[in-house]
Amino acid sequence: MLKRILYAALLAIAIIIAAVAWNTLRLTSRQIEVKPAPPLALDRDAVAARLAGALKFRTISDAASGDTNAEEFTRMQAYLQQAFPRLHATLKREMVGHSMLFTWQGSDPQARPVMWLAHQDVVPVAPGTESSWQQPPFDGVVKDGFVWGRGSWDDKGSLVAQMEAVETLLASGYQPRATLYLGFGADEEVGGRRGAVEIARLLKSRGIKMDYILDEGMLVTQGIMSGVSKPVALIGVAEKGYASVNLSVETAPGHSSMPPQKTAIGMMSAALTDLERKQMPVELTGVAREMFDSIAPEMQGMNRVVLSNLWLFAPVVKKQLEQSAGTNAVLRTTTALTVIHAGNKDNVLPGRADAVVNFRVRPGDTVGGVMEHVKQTVNNDAVHAELDAGSSDPSRVSPVDSAQYTLINRTIREVFSDAAVAPGIVIGATDARHYKDVSDHVYRFSPVRAGPEDLSRFHGTNERIGINNYLEAVSFYVQLARNGK
Ligand SMILES: [Zn+2]
Repeated sequence: MLKRILYAALLAIAIIIAAVAWNTLRLTSRQIEVKPAPPLALDRDAVAARLAGALKFRTISDAASGDTNAEEFTRMQAYLQQAFPRLHATLKREMVGHSMLFTWQGSDPQARPVMWLAHQDVVPVAPGTESSWQQPPFDGVVKDGFVWGRGSWDDKGSLVAQMEAVETLLASGYQPRATLYLGFGADEEVGGRRGAVEIARLLKSRGIKMDYILDEGMLVTQGIMSGVSKPVALIGVAEKGYASVNLSVETAPGHSSMPPQKTAIGMMSAALTDLERKQMPVELTGVAREMFDSIAPEMQGMNRVVLSNLWLFAPVVKKQLEQSAGTNAVLRTTTALTVIHAGNKDNVLPGRADAVVNFRVRPGDTVGGVMEHVKQTVNNDAVHAELDAGSSDPSRVSPVDSAQYTLINRTIREVFSDAAVAPGIVIGATDARHYKDVSDHVYRFSPVRAGPEDLSRFHGTNERIGINNYLEAVSFYVQLARNGK
């Protein structure tokens, strides 16, 4: 009897090993096979200098007013006009506040137009960090193979590269078949209400529907994804939602010499501890699953074995991915305790405690679901939970099995031929989310290479872009236009 059980167990193990091996070996690359795009003849120094020139303007946006730094925006627009004369002579420019909408009329009026987005505004330099910059943030310095400065990466890099691409195409006598729109917001960093929202409204009022929209977003990562030695270019097909929940507890204020069993601070602390401990679940489904399915064949060793066999290893993989803040943010609706206020004197029990918990909502979850989760987890009627204004559900997921996704995928493979392409989820918010009524195919990809040490430059200190990489970015947009014929 014992022998039989042992045999059965051994047989089961052998079958599992065989299945794991079979899944690992039969896994074939999902990457599109393409010929690398022919190199573009670009004047390296002039191209780098034109980007550097745009970094000299302090186009810092302000949520409170659209007129803050108005002069800087106007001066940068005049600079761009002078730097890209063909573009400005051929394309129609419409101003929406300080935001710009360019139209490059296509030759075929029946072809569905397409749209590229970028933004003119930048985030400020955090006070006290100016001296840590190797090059001043607003001098537009070209040095050691890099263009340095605030906006070189986010997002003047994309904006000027798009203009450079259009200028290059015009110089070669090219005219697009489908009309190409360029939407350059002036307030993306503060929510896009005056820029992207208004441009989208304008396009909608004209009944214009784009074949696809491409905005900034995910990157060509190098050495960021563990287990993959080649660069991985991620195309953002969705972005997470945003929900801040205001929590408050009101009790009778009193003297601390005779405290009740439950105080405002105690109840609030318990609620916050529970929310941090019992997070919403990690899900290896939808876009996250497709991302790993696309990357697994490009991996080596155990990573490949494990990711090829999620039917068996999913629980282990989830545990592992949860440990890293980066992958955790992709796989779940995250919970962040961001604000707490209560009390102002050591011997007085406060009558009120307030806190804010910020959730970033994974596609698949909803803001309503977050509120439900908060109520169930806190499970105390004394803790009042209210959704803050400005919350938004995650974006729609743009299809991966579409001609539009394939166009972008193919173009990346042609220009960044060393990179594997996979779909991804954008963790932050971009202008693209305001365009959901203007296109069913909204994608988020910046043709920028980034290694682990580069991530802190984003909105941080020593922002820069490699000149070689910037030339690739220009080539990417040229190739994207040409492929869209
Ligand atoms: Zn940006």
